[in-house]
Amino acid sequence: MKRTVIMPTLALVVGIAAGIIIGNQVATAQQQPAPAKSVEAQSEPLPLADLHFHPGPRFWPNLSPQDILLIMDRAGVRWAGNGPAGPDNVWMPFLQAAPDRFIPLAARGPIRRLILEQGEDAWALRSPEIIRVLEQLEDNLRAGRFRGIGELHVNNLGSPNPIFTLKYPADSPLMRRLLDLAATYQAPISIHMDAEPGSVEELERLLANNRKGLIIWAHCGWSWGDAGLIRKLIAQHPNLFCELSHRDDRPRSNPEERKKLMITDDGRQLKPDWKALLEEHSDRFLIGTDSAKPGEYQGIIDFHRAVLAQLKPEAARRIAHENAQRLFRLGEPIPATK
Ligand SMILES: [Zn+2]
Repeated sequence: MKRTVIMPTLALVVGIAAGIIIGNQVATAQQQPAPAKSVEAQSEPLPLADLHFHPGPRFWPNLSPQDILLIMDRAGVRWAGNGPAGPDNVWMPFLQAAPDRFIPLAARGPIRRLILEQGEDAWALRSPEIIRVLEQLEDNLRAGRFRGIGELHVNNLGSPNPIFTLKYPADSPLMRRLLDLAATYQAPISIHMDAEPGSVEELERLLANNRKGLIIWAHCGWSWGDAGLIRKLIAQHPNLFCELSHRDDRPRSNPEERKKLMITDDGRQLKPDWKALLEEHSDRFLIGTDSAKPGEYQGIIDFHRAVLAQLKPEAARRIAHENAQRLFRLGEPIPATK
């Protein structure tokens, strides 16, 4: 078994410390011309954690983990993670390549497959296959091989590809069981759930069922998740977090939906209600891309950086990476995956 001792946060801590020192130097040296090196270091981009990165050849054909690390490096993305399409072991080559750069989430593929095949028998925990998936998941979480669960497609009826859409109750026996596992093993769940009223009520019941289990709402509820709804739910549910993939300005075939999804205007200026929400609840938001096109990836990261630049520095740091570090215990090495 390959064991790697890593200190991934050290560089970050040093970086932040250097930033503080350089910041002070600039403040005290205003009368003198600023040395070029300081200005350069001061504009060092914030390290980002991308919480909507799906690994593997089904998303990134012909790209190795090393190729993807280069894309991440160019974009200043320090960490990236979510669940693969297919089995959990798709993560293996990524974790071997860079165990301190990826955030592996588990059970996305197996749960999705069983719900498509078995429907209610799976989400009501009536089939032996779903029980086996949950046992395997618990083994993996107990061993620390994965940091979270998902992305689970609880309600993605609004997604562009109707062939892959799913809907089941957010407070189903399956989801309640997963939330208990999330609580026991500090493994947040990534949920894709269009914020339609019925699903939102179910989600609220689920969140109340175990406050120690954390839920990261992918895409902040898709185009139904407006700032008012997200503000209300975040205020009521301390275990709810929001991840901002697809709330960017990438091109879409439906211009109305694009407008509703975007948290900015076309000039990337934050809408006032979203700016207030991100500032006031900066401990609850995370960045995500959910794009497997190298060219588009950089553009989405540029969008997030434009958003972060409009926030107070402490809010920007939390959303950029500090929340992800806290939620996923980034800095602790991940044992080799089976
Ligand atoms: Zn999604």
